[in-house]
Amino acid sequence: MIPYGRQSISDDDIEAVVRVLRSDWLTTGPNVKEFEDKVARYCGARHAVAVNSATSALHIACLAAGLAPGDTLWTSPNTFIASANAALYCGAEVDFVDIDPRTYNISVACLESKLAAAEKAGKLPKAVVPVDFAGQSCEMEQIRALADRYGFTVIEDAAHAIGGRYGERKTGDCAYADMTVFSFHPVKVITTGEGGMVLTNNDELYGRLARLRSHGITRDPAEMSGGSDGPWYYQQLDLGYNYRMTDLQAALGSSQMDRIDQFVARRREIAARYTREFASLPVITPYQRPETRSAWHLYVLCLDPARTAKSRSEVFARLVALGIGVNVHYIPVHTQPYFRRRFGFQPNICPNALAYYDACLSLPIFPGLTDDMQTHVIASVKEALR
Ligand SMILES: *Cc1c(COP(=O)(O)O)cnc(C)c1O
Repeated sequence: MIPYGRQSISDDDIEAVVRVLRSDWLTTGPNVKEFEDKVARYCGARHAVAVNSATSALHIACLAAGLAPGDTLWTSPNTFIASANAALYCGAEVDFVDIDPRTYNISVACLESKLAAAEKAGKLPKAVVPVDFAGQSCEMEQIRALADRYGFTVIEDAAHAIGGRYGERKTGDCAYADMTVFSFHPVKVITTGEGGMVLTNNDELYGRLARLRSHGITRDPAEMSGGSDGPWYYQQLDLGYNYRMTDLQAALGSSQMDRIDQFVARRREIAARYTREFASLPVITPYQRPETRSAWHLYVLCLDPARTAKSRSEVFARLVALGIGVNVHYIPVHTQPYFRRRFGFQPNICPNALAYYDACLSLPIFPGLTDDMQTHVIASVKEALR
């Protein structure tokens, strides 16, 4: 079975991890700092805080943004559940903004009209989480303009998008987002086994994020109330967590960063070949906005209901039978039983996300996918649609 995604681990990656295992320091130490600096430099952001998953990264980003009971966070329904759960961990509520039927990212038009209505009702969101779906940047400049007008914090969920670009900018430079989150889960663009990161250009948010990662503790006398008792002294200023990344993971991440551009280039090449090969099939290949350069975490094919009577389930089953590990990204989050039960969401609040969900299929895309493997995937898709 060819999976839809898979990590790429080199001998250098393995050596980097073994070096840490032989060293004195296993938990958050010099390698974490080096990894943070490397990612921040690569993206062009001022600060980076590495944590044990993107889910933790989203949680501390929401806390740093001040999300609390009585507040609401808005996100896209076409995402992994973690983007929404982060708000619930803070005791806040969640609402969803429908997707753009072309990019499958949050629709700026829907966001704008929902904000206008929310302003009238006195229920503006405290934070909005645009998700760079499949690795393609959201329309961040427009979202920033709305944030400035309506006063919400922008937490960009770029779990799919490290290595992508928005105009001349690298995703993660935080030019438009207050904070940007990456995931280093093995199916994502680079991996640390499990891991995540929050980037920001804001010094104050950085201080909060760094403390929240480790129990809300500071060891900096300048941040303490009443000064320090001595070199052993620390103070707990907030209620934080143990969301620390280990030095083992960070060493793997740093080593992976050396190949990030290669990874993304290979992903882009695979995507371009799929799009060429599928041009005459009754499918919709991924639309790319001209100002974006996707990191191609996913390659999503949508069946075109106007041109094929085949259902997604039928095509999915046929591809699995042919040895292709296809997947579906995503089940609209607002239709999950937990969200329906808790908030009473009706499925039709986001009709574009529902229609997309009925048609979408994620095909194998990862740096180790060979040309021969891809030839097999392409032939299988053609057969499944015949
Ligand atoms: C993978 C993913 C997450 C969660 O990442 P973890 O590192 O597994 O916690 C969050 N948001 C999106 C969009 C994701 O794809």
